[in-house]
Amino acid sequence: MGNNVIQFKHSNDIDYFILMQGKNLFDRAFKRITDSLVIIQVEEENRFRYVYANKYALESLCLTEHSLGKLIEDVHDEGMTIAMKRELKRLMEDETEEMTRFAFDGINTKDSVFEVILLPVKNEEELILYFVGWIKKADDNQMLDRSEQKLLQDIMIQYAKSKELIHFMLHHDLLTGLYNRKALFNNMDMELEKARSDDYEIAILYIDLDRFKLFNESMGYFMGDQLLRNVGDRLLSIEDSNYSVYRISGDNYVIILPRLNRDAAALFATKVYASFDEPFVINQQDYFITPSIGISIYPLDGLDSETLIRKADGALYQVKASGGGHFQFYSNALHEHLPNVFKMEAKLRRALERNELSIYFQPQIDLQTGKITSFEALLRWHNPALGFVSPAEFIPIAEDTGLIIPIGEWVIEEVCRVIKLWTEKGYEPVKVAVNLSPKQFLQPTLQDVIQSLLTKYNIAPSLLEIEITEGAMQDTSEALKMLNKLKWLGVSISVDDFGTGYSSLSYLKQFPLDTLKIDRSFVSEVLSDHKDAAIITTIIYLAHSLGLEVIAEGVETEAQAEFLRSVKCEKAQGFYYSKPLPISEIEERYFMNQI
Ligand code: C2E
Ligand code: MG
Ligand code: MG
Repeated sequence: MGNNVIQFKHSNDIDYFILMQGKNLFDRAFKRITDSLVIIQVEEENRFRYVYANKYALESLCLTEHSLGKLIEDVHDEGMTIAMKRELKRLMEDETEEMTRFAFDGINTKDSVFEVILLPVKNEEELILYFVGWIKKADDNQMLDRSEQKLLQDIMIQYAKSKELIHFMLHHDLLTGLYNRKALFNNMDMELEKARSDDYEIAILYIDLDRFKLFNESMGYFMGDQLLRNVGDRLLSIEDSNYSVYRISGDNYVIILPRLNRDAAALFATKVYASFDEPFVINQQDYFITPSIGISIYPLDGLDSETLIRKADGALYQVKASGGGHFQFYSNALHEHLPNVFKMEAKLRRALERNELSIYFQPQIDLQTGKITSFEALLRWHNPALGFVSPAEFIPIAEDTGLIIPIGEWVIEEVCRVIKLWTEKGYEPVKVAVNLSPKQFLQPTLQDVIQSLLTKYNIAPSLLEIEITEGAMQDTSEALKMLNKLKWLGVSISVDDFGTGYSSLSYLKQFPLDTLKIDRSFVSEVLSDHKDAAIITTIIYLAHSLGLEVIAEGVETEAQAEFLRSVKCEKAQGFYYSKPLPISEIEERYFMNQI
């Protein structure tokens, strides 16, 4: 005793946290009091729990710090328990009594009799919340004086308030003021119990904001926080009687809708979408954000909160995998898909050593001459069990798991090897572009890796181009450093999927770039949507005025190519010219006739 190491072992961390807070508060407040003091909390059904004992009380009642947080019957023998409970109950029932005292034999000092004086602490509704117990020798006639009693009263009220505050804090997300994950599980258990007894359905909506990460990284965390708050407000303002909103992490919100069946839940989801129709105004700027929503239904999809939330999340995963921006119910068919991600990850880990990866090349055409001037290297994965897996599917997994680093290095090495092979075969030199993922781009060793591969295969740096997305360049100063290093090696740099990120255009001026690749989404509609045509024309104008080249991705028709030529786009790439092809076919089609 007397040491300050506290080792409450509590299963419930809220109680534990409150105990700790209480201990600090009381230790400070009772510093002057050298008598034994305990605080007993009154709970339902006449249960009394020790929530505090100062070090003198621990000694005289023969308690340890492990006794705190426990019921009195769990720390005292039967005689003491009965005596104490009798007094406590009496005070609870008799409102006129201000205090009670009862004697017990000192445990440490056999020869002296101790006395406990119990003072009830009431709230404004005159309900007893706590008892303060003051323990002293029976022959000691000294009493707590008025001011000491008042001090105790005040402290207990403060304690009750801070407990409420702590409770609030522990159940709310302090950024948005919404309920948090802890509250979700608590409330859901209660909702489920009601639904079971009254026999109704509950819908669980699991919401994720599309491209929030990109927003956060490009606009900064302050703006990101602002957006999360505004989204919280929108979610709270949906016109429907009875629902609760939780933010459970990052950009993940959950809505619980009691008494809603599948159709009503779908209707609610469309209302959620409608609430995102208007832009979010942050710093006087408009931002359009869409949510993705996965939905599960009690009791159809599960009976307990954990299962239901997992299934709503599973449905959300499906929505994300198909591009986001819509909602979907959980269906059992997802079962087969979900473990797939894990299966896929396990298989991806072995893909390298088992030679399941290969590179396809897609020609890039000079729009003026119609000649092939370069290729883009696109990664392909063929797994015996999964078949061909699209990079759109496995690159994100590789990113999440860090596998992108070894895989990405393999791609660069393989491309260098092919460039050298083509040089040795006497083909006309062509540049090859390699995609770098954001994670790869921020590897401090990237420059060394590329440098050593250029040396190993003895190839001209001008034959290598790297493609990075706007998202990879959000940390402007880091990106600038890395780009300068790469530029210094002599490789060229292009910005992939240009126009789909949230980046500011000012980086175009600062960064040592060579090429902008106009995203496929603008090209596909260029003839039908005059806005896309205007965007393309503007991008080209902008690029040219900064001395950059432009290449259009996803060109599928002659008409699109013609339009691009008319607005002075330098290069094009797309199925109209060729799909990405394996090396053998590339050699056959494009190089064989050279010799
Ligand atoms: P990306 O770099 O924007 O690549 C262009 C994608 O568009 C390729 O998809 C290509 O096959 C496809 N494409 C080309 N022309 C057309 C067309 O005319 N119409 C249509 N509809 N699509 C066309 P792919 O090969 O499935 O690659 C998808 C994405 O995966 C790539 O987008 C790139 O971001 C990523 N990726 C591919 N290989 C690698 C790699 O080695 N490393 C990294 N980090 N990412 C890669
Ligand atoms: Mg690319
Ligand atoms: Mg692209």
